[in-house]
Amino acid sequence: MNYKIALIRGDGIGPEIVNETVKVIDKVGEKFGHTFEYVDVLMGGCATDAVGVSYPAGTAETCKACDAVLLGAVGGPRWGSDKPAEQRPETALLAIRKDLGLYANLRPAALRPALSDACPLKKETAEKGIDLLMVRELTGGIYFGKRDKYQTPDRGMEATDLMAYSEMEIERIGRRAFEFARLRRHKVSSVDKANVLETSRLWRAVMHRLAAEYPDVQYEDVLVDNCAMQLVRDPGQFDVVVTENMFGDILSDEASMVTGSIGLLPSASMGDGAPALYEPIHGSAPDIAGQDKANPIATILSAAMMFRYSFHLAAEADAIEAAVDKALADGWRTADIAKPGETVIGTRRMGEVICENI
Ligand code: NAD
Repeated sequence: MNYKIALIRGDGIGPEIVNETVKVIDKVGEKFGHTFEYVDVLMGGCATDAVGVSYPAGTAETCKACDAVLLGAVGGPRWGSDKPAEQRPETALLAIRKDLGLYANLRPAALRPALSDACPLKKETAEKGIDLLMVRELTGGIYFGKRDKYQTPDRGMEATDLMAYSEMEIERIGRRAFEFARLRRHKVSSVDKANVLETSRLWRAVMHRLAAEYPDVQYEDVLVDNCAMQLVRDPGQFDVVVTENMFGDILSDEASMVTGSIGLLPSASMGDGAPALYEPIHGSAPDIAGQDKANPIATILSAAMMFRYSFHLAAEADAIEAAVDKALADGWRTADIAKPGETVIGTRRMGEVICENI
């Protein structure tokens, strides 16, 4: 098969980590008999420098003509909040998510076996293993609701943010969660605050309806406060965790921290029809850009997700993940994950080692 991949290399360490990931993708192609066509897409601060805006006209159309989008990272101090919106890289990130209709954000949080001592939790907890997939609704809820700020006669200023969810929005993200659970360990934990919020009661009712359609998937409701606790007490109990936008924003950061380093965690955002977008959870790390210091693993594992979810090539995804685990088990470390005294390798060498393992 031939696959067409849009590459948004972006800013800071983006080009370096995408370069290594492309080498890994090509290696997988060589081994499994696939070919890849890459389409470079200019977006972010580098686009502002080149053409004056961070999200040039036609960006979404170019991406839509591809099978998947791989993004390094965008942003940096040169294009800060003092610049007009159209020059800021964050504007481009929001725009591409909206234009591709990416309503489901997936963040796996897995503790790589060789790095279990990087887990900030108790040793016994880490030893049980952590391998969960956070599925966050990305385009609805309180972040997109009506907001207002006004003067009251007697209580000073007042502000409101409206949280609204429709059955359609809940059902489409819920269905995704059940489908992902079928590719994993067949368990869905749906997180809400149904003891207080009306939106959560609707969320729960829709999830229960869906659960009946997926009898092979174990289902549970978890209150958001309890979920926050369970993530540090016993994260190994979770397989797929599905939740609304704001709860997911907070819980996915908590879940990623329990697994150790920011340089290791991939993510995917998907919608219906348009290509999904794969990117590391970290930013453009301007402090180490261009120095061959960045850890490329989060981006390489994002490519593994691309094989699994966009190309439906599970063996290829497994091969990438196994190659990463072997590199770590063999003691290869970039600076961000090295302990004092351990030998440190650069971005390019880490990419090479992972390619060799494939
Ligand atoms: P960051 O994630 O870029 O960096 C935080 C810290 O982690 C830094 O010390 C950095 O050196 C380190 N780090 C990050 N990724 C690493 C890697 N792969 N290997 C080794 N070390 C790594 O977060 P920040 O400093 O808050 O943001 C920098 C820029 O990135 C900002 O302009 C921000 O807006 C942007 N950003 C972009 C995205 C995105 O493109 N999706 C996401 C977050 C932040």
